[in-house]
Amino acid sequence: MNLKIGWLYPDLMSTYGDRGNVIALLYRARSRGIGATVITISVADSVDKINRADLFFMGGAQDLQQEIVAKDLRAEKGIFLKKAIERGIPGLYICGAFQFLGKYYKTSEGKILEGLDIFDLYTQSGQEKEKRLVGDMVFNPFFAPDKRFVGFENHNGRTYLGKGTQPFGKILKGFGNNGKDGTEGMVYKNSIGSYSHGPLLPKNPELTDWLVQKALQLKYKRKIKLKNLDTKYEDLARKTVIKKLID
Ligand code: GLN
Repeated sequence: MNLKIGWLYPDLMSTYGDRGNVIALLYRARSRGIGATVITISVADSVDKINRADLFFMGGAQDLQQEIVAKDLRAEKGIFLKKAIERGIPGLYICGAFQFLGKYYKTSEGKILEGLDIFDLYTQSGQEKEKRLVGDMVFNPFFAPDKRFVGFENHNGRTYLGKGTQPFGKILKGFGNNGKDGTEGMVYKNSIGSYSHGPLLPKNPELTDWLVQKALQLKYKRKIKLKNLDTKYEDLARKTVIKKLID
């Protein structure tokens, strides 16, 4: 079996250790004998690279990079990305990526950056007096509500989900989508949007496996059971953050 990870805009969208998510995907796939490789997709690349990916990852960025990428995605790549997402190709979209796959992002200057309108959500940058939402976070993920996942957030945008999406997690500590409604991120088909940088996947291997499994099942059109891997160090890292914040 092999798995091609489409890493969208690594040169523009990758902050606070986001690249660690790609390393975690490669590591957990290869440890099981799955031939995992990365396809980088950026402004200069042709659109067919999107069609070759079995799984997508896209990290966060500040408003300036978001504007450049939004322009490129709107030109052509976004149409193919939307088709892939609708087909159920799994993906993880962090912070800025999560924001502009929604309807729009309103910057602090009041400028509206049109999103790709794939996810039913919109984001409004915090007003002058509102603080940036920064810090470690703990939440229960939707597919394992008894588990506690950890992440690190740093954003000004406040995201509000529409009816077409469900939250990725329920906040136990931290701000999440907007600091008000207790939601973190979103799920749509097999795509996950999240405010967790940190990076998210090395600390929460269950999510890495969820993405890898969904991607392989779609690609090979059969049920796939991933063999268990030791998560001693991942669990210890997570426990340390949770202890500091909650227990
Ligand atoms: N520019 C966005 C915000 O501040 C995204 C930031 C990020 O991706 N870390 O909300």
